[in-house]
Amino acid sequence: AVPAAAQTARPATGPGYLDARRPVRDRVEDLLSRMTLDEKIGQMTQAERGSVTPDDVTRHRIGSVLSGGGSTPTPNTAEAWADMYDGFQRAALATPRRIPMIYGVDAVHGHNNLVGATIFPHNIGLGATRDPDLVRDVGRATAEEVAATGVDWTFAPCLCVARDDRWGRTYESFGEVPELPAAMSVIVDGFQGRRLDGPASILATAKHYVGDGGTAGGDDQGDTRISEAELRRIHLPPFRAAVRRGVGSVMISFSSWNGVKLHGHRYLVTDVLKKELGFDGFVVSDWNGIDQIDGQPGFTPQEVATAINAGIDMVMVPQDWRRFIDTLRGEVQAGHVSMARIDDANRRILTKKFELGLFERPFTDRRLLRTVGSDRHRALARRAVAESQVLLKNDGGVLPLARNNNKIFVAGRAADDIGIQSGGWTITWQGSPGNITPGTTILQGIRQTAGPSTTVDYSRDGSGIDGSYRAAVAVVGELPYAEGEGDRPDGMGLDAGDLATIERLRASGVPVIVVLVSGRPLDVAAQLPGWNALVASWLPGTEGRGVADVLFGVTRPTGKLPMTWMRSVDQQPINRGDGKKPLFPYGYGLTYRR
Ligand code: BGC
Repeated sequence: AVPAAAQTARPATGPGYLDARRPVRDRVEDLLSRMTLDEKIGQMTQAERGSVTPDDVTRHRIGSVLSGGGSTPTPNTAEAWADMYDGFQRAALATPRRIPMIYGVDAVHGHNNLVGATIFPHNIGLGATRDPDLVRDVGRATAEEVAATGVDWTFAPCLCVARDDRWGRTYESFGEVPELPAAMSVIVDGFQGRRLDGPASILATAKHYVGDGGTAGGDDQGDTRISEAELRRIHLPPFRAAVRRGVGSVMISFSSWNGVKLHGHRYLVTDVLKKELGFDGFVVSDWNGIDQIDGQPGFTPQEVATAINAGIDMVMVPQDWRRFIDTLRGEVQAGHVSMARIDDANRRILTKKFELGLFERPFTDRRLLRTVGSDRHRALARRAVAESQVLLKNDGGVLPLARNNNKIFVAGRAADDIGIQSGGWTITWQGSPGNITPGTTILQGIRQTAGPSTTVDYSRDGSGIDGSYRAAVAVVGELPYAEGEGDRPDGMGLDAGDLATIERLRASGVPVIVVLVSGRPLDVAAQLPGWNALVASWLPGTEGRGVADVLFGVTRPTGKLPMTWMRSVDQQPINRGDGKKPLFPYGYGLTYRR
């Protein structure tokens, strides 16, 4: 948001809401009193960047644009992002009321749609650090990179309390007990900064409200079948914490509570979130979330009315925004949605737009571009990676590796692959293996950390190892996935290829250290006795050097399990204090003596 001279020169006699000296409340009321119904409905509409042109934004008064997981490919340079943003913003300002649009993205572990951005560990790893100050700094750095591309708003943090590791979104959770996501909601302070109108502040979203991590069987978008007391005890506290921090928006969960979809749940959205918790920001739906209220594809007029009356203020209708606008207009005209509700939604949205300073500084502040993928941010990410490593087994003190005069063999498909170590929500929604964005792989990190007198050899599948090596490091685990694509109802073990790689290393007689790159605990109890050491690396992101820091003892391991580690998959759901016998309990994590 740059203070261009052209934007500061307001006509002295212009409408009151453009006068930045007036309190936000007055500006909102003044603006609201001038708006037509169509303008108000436009503010409540969020369309996907590939399904809407700048011209549509002007013509239909669209209030928000997003690049979501399921979006058309995003620009791959920061400048192109900024150009795109500014194009949409110019279009929004070309409307009679000159109301800026707000642009949202899933920056869930750094500005992860952007090639070259710093990719931080996914939330499960941040939960393992138990370091809220660090997590706030991660939020701050992410906000700088996001703001550099013009974008105003991230659909993060996910404050789900993941109770069943078969769920494909387990890695988006800071942890399985409410205290941990509640403590890590401090990332909101990092995103939003001290003031929302600061140059590098972005709006945060607490998601997915509420109970997304409690669905039966870990079924993504499924049904959370628990009492109200349990919902309040397990799933509500992180949202309470985020509301206390002033989180600007809340996204509704695709899931149901005892058979009723959250997108139509007036009690939970209006009575609990807005009234009881006192949330004064705006509520956004999830991607086509209103379609699911009646269990049939697409949305009906009834579903639109139900969602708005439940308390949803902005609706993410990525492609079908035209029909949404017409439908909501019809529902208001038919008296199914009151003008009071429409005005309340607009007040909430416009308040955040004013607080963000969008009316004064609507365009990208390109001075921030130098922060994207900067050395400072990568150093922070490396520290976050090191702090997130959880040492689970270390027989005979095989770790830390000696940096000097050592001979190390590295293997495994996750050893030299930025895409795999970054997981889902990286460049694309599902993520993918391969060289998808600049960074340091775990293998490169090991090579950089080892001293010149140490040999580091590598083969992907472990072939070529012999008994002359002092340690073998197998970097194995899960391939990238996101959301329901990652649901694993039937099994959570290592795949056959990974097991074969580890067996090749073991056959050499060299001590084997397994580094697990995964979005959750895996079912490894049967193999564990044959491994000399085990490190849970989670999904570290682009700075693989942080893993090497811990392997070599440059950083002492301090990470603690944010999830109970199952003994076998049929123990799921398994959580702290439930009386089941885990392989490693919640909070477990070894360190090095020395
Ligand atoms: C996810 C949300 C995300 C949205 C926009 C949905 O599929 O559930 O977490 O913010 O897409 O990408």
